[in-house]
Amino acid sequence: MATKILVIEDEEKIARFIELELQYEGYEVEKAAEGRQGLELAESGAYDLVLLDIMLPGLNGVEILRRLRKSSTVPVIMLTARDAVMDKVSGLDMGANDYITKPFAIEELLARIRVCLRKHAANESAPTSAGSASELSVGKLTLCPDRHEVNYDGAAVELTSREFSLLQTLLENKNIVLGRDTLLERVWGYDYMGETNVVDVYIRYLRAKIDDKFDVRLIKTIRGVGYVVKDE
Ligand code: CA
Repeated sequence: MATKILVIEDEEKIARFIELELQYEGYEVEKAAEGRQGLELAESGAYDLVLLDIMLPGLNGVEILRRLRKSSTVPVIMLTARDAVMDKVSGLDMGANDYITKPFAIEELLARIRVCLRKHAANESAPTSAGSASELSVGKLTLCPDRHEVNYDGAAVELTSREFSLLQTLLENKNIVLGRDTLLERVWGYDYMGETNVVDVYIRYLRAKIDDKFDVRLIKTIRGVGYVVKDE
């Protein structure tokens, strides 16, 4: 299941930009441009993380956060205006997990989102550390979608988001051969317009980081059909 992020931001251009970038990274995104509507959505419990602007019509971000914290521990990253020190202070006091100053580099926002989600998942799973139900594995390889982590025999494997998503798709369909078109559709999306051999290229990247590195053969090529990961 995709990680869901709620973006409460009244500046349409910024909201749309964030939405596109997050969707590209594989997140599911919903937007609210008005404070009360934003609070209502945030309180619904349907989101894994909230990006919260401060200056909003209806109800401002600090007030939304104050009310939200009465019922929810969902991670919140505040979007603050440059040098608005008071906003940062009151936001963190109110229980924001982090803040980022506008204008920001999207890479920084993405990094902060990942950290926030990872910390939150670690806290949530602390009482029952028996492993997440959604963890996927083949052989000694495990992939945790919640924490966005891949391990081989305990060693961390660093993947880009595309590589991660390709590996996740293969693992979710363990023992099922997936054609290039299917992989293209699921990992890159229906409207992908680039080279069709991109799947083969990314399979090579994955093999370099996993199969070659750990001297195994987890990702198998089925000639003329596609790719599969199989239990030995
Ligand atoms: Ca605003």
